[in-house]
Amino acid sequence: MNLSYVPTQPDGPWATYLSQIDEVVPYLGRLARWAETLRRPKRALCVDIPIEMDDGRIAHFEGFRVQHSLTRGPGKGGVRYHPDVTLEEVMALAAWMTIKNAAVNLPYGGAKGGVRVDPSRLSERELEKITRRYTSEIGIIIGPNQDIPAPDVNTNAKIMAWMMDTYSMNVGATATGVVTGKPVALGGSLGRVKATGRGVFVIGRETARRLGVSLDGARVAIQGFGNVGSATAELFAGNGAKIVAVQDHTGTVVNAKGLDIAGLMGELRARGGIGAYSGGDRVPDEHFWDVESDILVPAALEGQITADRARRLKTRIVLEGANGPTLAEADAILGRRGITVIPDVMANAGGVIVSYFEWVQDFSSFFWTEDEINVRLEKILVGAYRKIWETAELHKIHLRTAAFVVACERVLLAREERGLYP
Ligand code: NAD
Repeated sequence: MNLSYVPTQPDGPWATYLSQIDEVVPYLGRLARWAETLRRPKRALCVDIPIEMDDGRIAHFEGFRVQHSLTRGPGKGGVRYHPDVTLEEVMALAAWMTIKNAAVNLPYGGAKGGVRVDPSRLSERELEKITRRYTSEIGIIIGPNQDIPAPDVNTNAKIMAWMMDTYSMNVGATATGVVTGKPVALGGSLGRVKATGRGVFVIGRETARRLGVSLDGARVAIQGFGNVGSATAELFAGNGAKIVAVQDHTGTVVNAKGLDIAGLMGELRARGGIGAYSGGDRVPDEHFWDVESDILVPAALEGQITADRARRLKTRIVLEGANGPTLAEADAILGRRGITVIPDVMANAGGVIVSYFEWVQDFSSFFWTEDEINVRLEKILVGAYRKIWETAELHKIHLRTAAFVVACERVLLAREERGLYP
């Protein structure tokens, strides 16, 4: 386990994040003196999660919760269950949450959690035990005013309900505000499930408008058909675009005339993946990156757009639904090729914005309608995006660096105003 801040993998997410910070420092003026703060997580907790499996074995799992920054408010960020989770990955994901929350001006720091496990190999009972023990272990640093987890890859509303219940049992009072992305019956918010996909769509629509690309008939290719990918696909298709390619961990399906999203959703429910869907042509996975599109949405895992793929992409806009899908070298290539990249910290911020609404609603015990949620989401997102676009034009920089400029200025100004303790 790497316990230093020096990245172990040159193409890994932590290295990608650090190179993004290097890019932004020249634009920070006097605040650059505080920039080292951004290169170090404030706090990282590694926990052992022992559980008794259904067959009587005792199995141990590694869990993490990283609070990258608490400068602007409590930590906020999802929890990921995946066999490849490492401390270094969670550090990067937590850091991107700091940037994202500041870029859209939410009163949060940045945090992230993860458990190194393949949930598809667990029974529901085992999944619940892991979740409850993990929550108990990280209970010393999370809380409605400290750090508020949410769903991420392979976690969902049911897991958030178990987390909320475990934390509440430990503190002796029902604490709905300790996690977001909960079921609506437990203080969850309307609109949260599809909020990230809705945000991806809204930012995609705004980008298309600015670049003069008509959404009507626009070709959209989407990698990942989980929470983010499927909601994004539904909204683009519902607004006149054609979903020409979809890829998930079970395969890749293409159809130049547009895939039927309801059919893909049915396939996902029936078989747990879209790889065998018959409403299009099944192609080798690598072919996904050669499909012609107007908008390409990576909505699966990080590190998917490599330098080689960046040279081959036939698209105009890369709309990052996933966190960290583009490697630093690939980002530079896309820039040189004139492909507009909408950074993850902007494109997928819809989820955390509605998580923020959920947290506010839980504190006030007063719940909003779905229309109110969607209108407020759009207002915050479109306003934040306008500022980032203006910053990019002012400094003549790419949108990612612009988003980092806006976010880092906010974080470091708060750091400077708070001063150093003691
Ligand atoms: P999910 O678990 O619901 O879906 C993940 C999808 O990725 C699945 O369709 C899976 O089949 C696919 N996938 C996994 N490995 C793949 C591979 N090697 N090749 C192709 N496809 C693969 O997860 P999600 O919540 O939709 O998250 C997706 C991305 O969006 C992650 O990067 C996550 O951090 C980011 N994100 C999620 C949210 C949220 O609210 N859920 C918010 C912001 C960002």
